[in-house]
Amino acid sequence: MSQKKFKTEVADLLKLIIHSLYSNKEIFLRELISNSSDAIDKLKYLSLTDGSLKGYSFDPRIQLSFDEGKKTLTISDNGIGMNEDDLNNNLGTIASSGTRKFLESLSEDQKKDSNLIGQFGVGFYSAFMVAEKIEVVTRKAGEEGAYKWTSDGRSGYEIEKAERSEQGSTITLFMNSDSTSFLNRYELERLIKKYSDYVAYPIYLEYDKTNYNYEKKDEKGEPEKTVEHKNEQINSAIALWRKSKSSIKEEEYKDFYKNNWYDSEDPLFYMHSKVEGATEYTTLFYIPQYAPFDMNYADYKPGVKLYVKRVYITDDDKELLPVYLRFVRGIIDSEDLPLNVSREILQENRIMASIRSSSVKKILGEFKKISENNPELYDKFIKEYNRPLKEGLYSDYANRDALLALVRYHSSSEDGYVSLKKYKERMKEGQKSIYYISGGSLDALKSSPLISSYTEKGYEVLIMDDDIDEIVLTSLYEYEGLPFKAINKTGALDEIKDENDDKLKEEKKAVAEKVKKALGDKVKDVVISSRLDSSVSSCILMDENDPSVQMQRLMKQMGNEGIEVKPILEINPKSPVINKIEASEDEEYVKAVSEVLLDQALLQEGVMIKDALAFAKNLTRLLG
Ligand code: ADP
Repeated sequence: MSQKKFKTEVADLLKLIIHSLYSNKEIFLRELISNSSDAIDKLKYLSLTDGSLKGYSFDPRIQLSFDEGKKTLTISDNGIGMNEDDLNNNLGTIASSGTRKFLESLSEDQKKDSNLIGQFGVGFYSAFMVAEKIEVVTRKAGEEGAYKWTSDGRSGYEIEKAERSEQGSTITLFMNSDSTSFLNRYELERLIKKYSDYVAYPIYLEYDKTNYNYEKKDEKGEPEKTVEHKNEQINSAIALWRKSKSSIKEEEYKDFYKNNWYDSEDPLFYMHSKVEGATEYTTLFYIPQYAPFDMNYADYKPGVKLYVKRVYITDDDKELLPVYLRFVRGIIDSEDLPLNVSREILQENRIMASIRSSSVKKILGEFKKISENNPELYDKFIKEYNRPLKEGLYSDYANRDALLALVRYHSSSEDGYVSLKKYKERMKEGQKSIYYISGGSLDALKSSPLISSYTEKGYEVLIMDDDIDEIVLTSLYEYEGLPFKAINKTGALDEIKDENDDKLKEEKKAVAEKVKKALGDKVKDVVISSRLDSSVSSCILMDENDPSVQMQRLMKQMGNEGIEVKPILEINPKSPVINKIEASEDEEYVKAVSEVLLDQALLQEGVMIKDALAFAKNLTRLLG
């Protein structure tokens, strides 16, 4: 017998689980049954593919029984089983590094959120919420010896040799005194139906049924009792997605989602389709009500499970759908793929490629339909998933037009989101471009002095406050023939100017020269503005093809030190400050004011100025 301590993270996980999930402790059964079902999946898969277990024959089955007297609940399966190493690796440590990282990343508040914890599947350890001791007797398929693992879920576990005639695992829970209510036929039936009805293998429950015979009374006049031993299949064990759409109730769709993707919320919507023809497959996709917690992690867990002819293949392949659709949950069940399809083969497989590309079209098409027929639902959807869809704009060229119809932007014209289509429809006559402003927060951008110069003239400006927007725009030149123009770049100026602008520029040419000379190589150019109102004296403008100031900052953050593009300073002749410069002969004064004009314009853009001390000195001098 060997006695071992849990790795520290197991102890931490146990504490976390017990505290977060206690109010919902019934899920332990779902977790254990799903482990059994996974174990059968694994063996079935190996028996159908190559290797030493090919042709291995067994009759998949999950068996539950309980004993009120001994206070035990037993869950048994004839799946792959575990050898001694497996027991140490699987039940003594948290094997997946993703799980560990996830745990470490949780804030105290998140740790209290049982839905969040439930989402990643707490697994085997959740059984310690209801059991004071757990025994696992197990034998690995194709191997001789069997082992017994025992633990109280506190300090550690023991492993000893054991006997077991068939491959598989038997988990015996010695229930704690708070949890004996689970040792009840009706309660167990309820839980199996609730959480595990669609588990693909039969789940049997053994119980004693008491029959009363009212015809025959005993001495006390009570009906005669006989106890009948029963063992019945409880779950329906039919893969939901294989049934015809019309025979599935909405509740069934929802339960299937909630139980398989560990969500306590209903999905936002779902799409189920069966494709027949050259390639045959069935897909059932769900969109979660809220973006999965790991949607913006690089090592997110993919949400689509691949089956081949109802045999489970993988739920961990990021290639099943493009990365930007990583929030989609669901199932792809192919009739044509070979069962022993490996990850490498999957990536190059023609059938898989065709399933994937038509699934993407199907999913994007459904989003479009919802945007047209159910704006309220679409609003909810876009609040969660606008960002990943924007990623698609630069990663999925083939579906760019479909994605352009789906993404939404904030706008100077209304509070909610607008589509590019709507922008185009209500464009001013003669308008040739889509105007936008980017970089910075929504509030900062909305109050930018530049916007009013456009809205006053009747132009709508899109507010691109998402940091991904600019990156997307670098590859997105136009929408239906309309180029995108940033209003803080030179290119957007020409279109909105009127006759007076050139006159004004000519008149004030000398001031611009003066400021430019004072600033030297700090700027690319200094130009006279006709679009600012008198409350602002200057702003930053970028050359049409230069990255914006924020974009440069973003590139720097990504380690791109090389690029430093000088801004163009736009000065406002309506501002009294400019008049003072015009009138002044004092070179030092002009230099100080010009520098302040540049620095404050940068600050307006939310950019940290390089020399804060010089700025302060200039200000002190001017205020004095
Ligand atoms: P998860 O199922 O999310 O991997 P668990 O903590 O539930 O995490 O289980 C850990 C591991 O223990 C599983 O990945 C599996 O390898 C093994 N395991 C658990 N239950 C069984 C079982 N009934 N049969 C075979 N292996 C099992």
